[in-house]
Amino acid sequence: MSYVSEVLEQINERHSKQPEYTQAVTEVLQDVSGLVSQNEKALRRQAILERLVEPDRLLRFRVNWERDDGSLATNLLWRVQFNNALGAYKGGLRFHPSVNTSILKFLGFEQTFKNALTGLPMGGAKGGSNFNPKEASLPEIRRFCQQAMLALHPFIGPDADVPAGDIGVGSQEIAFLYGQYLQIHKAHRGVLTGKQPSFGGSCGRTEATGYGVIFFLEEALAAREDTLEGKSLLISGAGNVALHTAEKALQEGARVLSLSDSQGLVVFKDGLTQDQLRSLKTARTEKRQSLAEWHSEASDSGCDYQEGNTPWHLEADIAIPCATQNEIDEDAAKHLVEGGIQWLIEGANMPLTSAAQEQIRDAGITYIPGKIANAGGVAVSGFERSQQAALLPWTLDTVTSRLKDLMKRIHRNVSEAAPDAKGPIDYRVGANRAAFDKVVNVMQAYGI
Ligand code: NDP
Repeated sequence: MSYVSEVLEQINERHSKQPEYTQAVTEVLQDVSGLVSQNEKALRRQAILERLVEPDRLLRFRVNWERDDGSLATNLLWRVQFNNALGAYKGGLRFHPSVNTSILKFLGFEQTFKNALTGLPMGGAKGGSNFNPKEASLPEIRRFCQQAMLALHPFIGPDADVPAGDIGVGSQEIAFLYGQYLQIHKAHRGVLTGKQPSFGGSCGRTEATGYGVIFFLEEALAAREDTLEGKSLLISGAGNVALHTAEKALQEGARVLSLSDSQGLVVFKDGLTQDQLRSLKTARTEKRQSLAEWHSEASDSGCDYQEGNTPWHLEADIAIPCATQNEIDEDAAKHLVEGGIQWLIEGANMPLTSAAQEQIRDAGITYIPGKIANAGGVAVSGFERSQQAALLPWTLDTVTSRLKDLMKRIHRNVSEAAPDAKGPIDYRVGANRAAFDKVVNVMQAYGI
């Protein structure tokens, strides 16, 4: 049996109840099996695959916090420190009732590869809690964040582990977490990214993931002598990544036909307008409204709201899932193929099930995985660490132009690592190979 098959069998047996994690590991190991077989003896001797696919450690905390009515609530909080070969552990925190160790391990594993591809010195990690911010008032969110930091602070640090935001953790939650760190340590340190620029954050971080998606897409289109101008886009989600992907897409002349949230879909028949986007950003970030609430308040009628629906039955040129893992299943993929989609680029992490991905790739649709497409967020987090360490903030122009350069560099490196086949670039295999090479070379250099 090959080394890859052996390790996959082990992982699937040991973690049979962690489907997202085994899905992510299986995809990567399959893509690098050719590289592994070229050097199998040495990799086996150093147990590289076993060490690569299991996190270094998984920390779990119980967090008690006080509700507004004075009663006590408890939640679980985890931090998965996956791999720090290339630098301090780095990856976001997610607050959502669905959070569990399978989801955090898949995210931490993917983050290790994504961070390697940025070329910045960052290892991979992820964390989060089953705390539901949607059912909490702002003071309750603050008290939860403060208690969460009380648990987490001994295990993080600028050279050790640097968390950031993710689903349910935006700049307000990061501010509450950082404020508590400051209370405890009485020192400003780069222990979190995604901070506001007024206390050590980087300008452009909020927009970075979505803008990076579009920068990458433009590179990929340019490689085929095409542009985004006039293309129609299906975007899912209505959070940080979705709204900033939509914003940059509009600036580049594309038409955004949809946005969605966990309750339903908004279809913009003539394309999302700047005014609608502005009003949506206010509704989502300041008023914490759902799309249904926004739609019922919106005075113009340029869009339809469809409860319980997703965008994938609509016709367009490009699909950009920006909500959550496995949001596109086989059925949705079938609709996308039938609808004539040409490109699928992932704003979210692993938004396609394995079967959906197979269908999309088999249909000849160009598929760009999240670990390269959405790397702009963590890249600007890396920039934030540089700025905080040097006590020297960069201008928005500097951040944006460095982000653009970095997405270009990822595109070049991944294209070079992709299989030398005729036809479109296989971005998935290229990304997995390039990142594997980078992380494994360093693990081997450290020795056993
Ligand atoms: P947000 O919390 O800002 O937004 C998430 C959006 O997805 C919301 O519209 C939410 O709907 C929707 N959503 C969440 N869960 C589900 C679900 N189970 N079914 C349907 N819709 C759902 O998160 P982000 O925009 O930050 O993150 C989105 C994705 O991008 C995630 O996969 C994240 O890991 C990834 N990502 C984020 C980065 C960042 O910088 N923020 C960086 C790289 C990747 P509702 O409002 O109804 O809950």
